[in-house]
Amino acid sequence: LLQLYVPLNFMGMVYREIKQGLIDIETMFALLEEPAEVKDKPGAKPLEVPEGKVTFDHVAFAYDPERPILKDLDFEVPAGKMIAIVGPSGAGKSTLSRLLFRFFDVTGGAIRIDGQNIADVTQESLRQAIGMVPQDTVLFNDTIEYNIRYGRPDASEDDVRRAAKLAQIHDFIMALPEGYDSMVGERGLKLSGGEKQRVAIARTILKAPPILMLDEATSALDSHTEKEIQDALERVSRNRTTLVIAHRLSTVVHADEIIVMEQGRIVERGTHMGLMKARGLYHSLWTQQQKADREREKLAESDEGG
Ligand code: ADP
Ligand code: MG
Repeated sequence: LLQLYVPLNFMGMVYREIKQGLIDIETMFALLEEPAEVKDKPGAKPLEVPEGKVTFDHVAFAYDPERPILKDLDFEVPAGKMIAIVGPSGAGKSTLSRLLFRFFDVTGGAIRIDGQNIADVTQESLRQAIGMVPQDTVLFNDTIEYNIRYGRPDASEDDVRRAAKLAQIHDFIMALPEGYDSMVGERGLKLSGGEKQRVAIARTILKAPPILMLDEATSALDSHTEKEIQDALERVSRNRTTLVIAHRLSTVVHADEIIVMEQGRIVERGTHMGLMKARGLYHSLWTQQQKADREREKLAESDEGG
């Protein structure tokens, strides 16, 4: 609603001003400028990541001041460990990942990496330190080679291929008529969600950042693809600080800690075993998922049976 309302209102205003002969080009640009919410502070220094510890220190956030989204989010990911974030849709998981990448500034508390508030360092250095593998990767309208190399533009051809192999996408690429020169994206070859995600993983392997932020696909992948992606993610997250918004049991079981979120708050935390024993929200989420998995399998079996 807001998105629709603002431009309409704005156009009305511009129209009135043009009519009155009042608008000049500078005003127009000033009005058009995005609300630059996130800026480097004057004299911001580059982030230094000797270890890669990530701290959410009583973080609060709202897109709209009237409606708080994240409330007092407080947790730490020790360097090199993997934390899984789970919870029902709308809990604020993707919002949390956007804050770590500083697409928005927190409205309360702070996010720190190795003790430095991410609001105090340059955005460029922050984004250099974090590898983001989003749920829905958008590929550039360019070759698949370009799309992978984007992770580190000066990488050699060998490095690109090595990364693609680790991400389990090399064989797929080699089977394309034009191999690494194949055009992908909206105006090229359309890749499946799993293939796009593996391209994003290859890009991240090439970038080799100390911190990883992964958002697993929500939709059910076939078990072969799931296994391949899982293997690729396991390789890339080894010895790196990893935050994973997890939907798959296989990821969560191996996490060093699981944070369970609901309505912008942490409602439970612990290991898989501990949380299963506690029989709270986590337990019910996984019971539901396993039931859904069993029904899907049954459906697949009855399809095979004709
Ligand atoms: P999750 O990833 O856990 O499903 P999100 O972080 O996407 O949850 O969303 C948390 C809440 O924030 C939801 O209520 C959602 O409607 C709201 N939200 C998400 N993105 C925006 C946005 N860009 N502007 C306003 N509200 C948003
Ligand atoms: Mg989400």
